[in-house]
Amino acid sequence: MRVLATVRQLLSRVRVAPEAGACSDTRQPTTVRKRARVPKGHVAPPAPPRPVLAALASKFVRLEREVLERFRPQMQQAIQDELDALAAAQGQAHRPVCCDRPMRHHDSSRKSWLSWAGRVGVRAWRYRCNLCGGERYPLLEALEVEPGQPSGLLARMLGLLGCVASYSLAAEMSAQLLGVKVNAMTVWRAVQRLGEAVARHTEALSRYHADSRSQASESAHPPDVVVATVDGCALGMQVRRKRRQRQSAEEILPPLPPVEDGQFREVKTGVLLLPSERVLLSPDRRALVRRVLVSCLGDADAIFNLLWAALRELGWIGPQTTVVLIGDGAEWIWKRATMFTNRCEILDFWHAMEYAWDYARLQFGEGSRRADQWTARLARDLKAGKILTVIERLKTLAPTSKESREALDALVKYYTDNASRMRYDEYLRLGYGIGSGSVESAHKQVVHARLRQAGMRWSPEGARRLLALRLLLLNGNWAMADQLRMVRFAA
Ligand SMILES: [Zn+2]
Repeated sequence: MRVLATVRQLLSRVRVAPEAGACSDTRQPTTVRKRARVPKGHVAPPAPPRPVLAALASKFVRLEREVLERFRPQMQQAIQDELDALAAAQGQAHRPVCCDRPMRHHDSSRKSWLSWAGRVGVRAWRYRCNLCGGERYPLLEALEVEPGQPSGLLARMLGLLGCVASYSLAAEMSAQLLGVKVNAMTVWRAVQRLGEAVARHTEALSRYHADSRSQASESAHPPDVVVATVDGCALGMQVRRKRRQRQSAEEILPPLPPVEDGQFREVKTGVLLLPSERVLLSPDRRALVRRVLVSCLGDADAIFNLLWAALRELGWIGPQTTVVLIGDGAEWIWKRATMFTNRCEILDFWHAMEYAWDYARLQFGEGSRRADQWTARLARDLKAGKILTVIERLKTLAPTSKESREALDALVKYYTDNASRMRYDEYLRLGYGIGSGSVESAHKQVVHARLRQAGMRWSPEGARRLLALRLLLLNGNWAMADQLRMVRFAA
């Protein structure tokens, strides 16, 4: 028996000892790692093998890459050939006019830019005005390219990547998806140029519809009811107007100070939907066929103008249409609701419950059964449309502490101020919905998913452009980007 035990012990030691030749470094290690003590009779499981990659890409991936490599130069050449033909025809075009007279052909020079198929370019004619000295490149303007910058489709694709991922990740995605290597700054510029174009378009549409002489989209059957939910969420803004610059490559900049209250701005978002398009998935889950988002880093008037413009563009507002407006208790929402003649104002049910919870926690204790029961009963009564009864009952309560007295007073005031917006039984019966959940999920998609990642700060212009781009994508209108003229930036 003793012999057997010794053999077993020896065996277990052999198993745990590192394999001879496994380490390529033959030098003596300076520190010896303490070997784990192995209990008697224990056989250690074999060490996990190092995972091995396949020596080659799969056959199909190789085949695809080979085709791409073969045809990319040909596509690049085909684009270049088309550009050469346009360049050759420059002399036949009308001369551009400046100061009421045709401009003079000054010279021509080669201008190049980056396309999805690689670098391309043209010999572009430059015209000059004899009077004011103004210069123009009509061919570059017609092509809407910016020399030295990604242009055309590539610029739009970079704008797309940059509005869903951080600029550095978007640059990495460009290399992987498009086979075009750019840096984060290039993506940033594409987002600014395209975003500015989208933002200007959206704002112009908003100004247009705000004017009484504008025309709404023709709609044979405007809906009877449209639901608009409005809310705001905070966005961290840059403290400085200018980016900090390192004096040398080695210099390490001190961390940015924590964002204080004053450096936040509110992004206001509105969601439009038709109750008739809500689909019941299960008794308590509904899905939406369609919803339209508007968003801005502006004041209350700006978001309501955007809502109005969207309703008119969609043909969702007619003389008989009731606009159902769901919001929290914020005064800016109800003040502007009056712009809709037929309207139904609803106080978000969950905001109403939050006030009740504040009181219940203080009065009955955090997480207590009493608090649960009390708020559950209140919720039932509110949903049953008994708001006036609820207010009367709240007034008879006798809070036991100063804090719970204050919470109760706030609750009674909030419910009294908003009583006419709390006829939840009616709203439920009519299918209007009672919660602002749609706008809260919109905040997550529009703002949080891209603009509120760790440490992100925004300039007002940067946030405005990025928001405009994200809305284009989230509203399913990205194809419109082709028809927008990207805005040129001075370097
Ligand atoms: Zn001129």
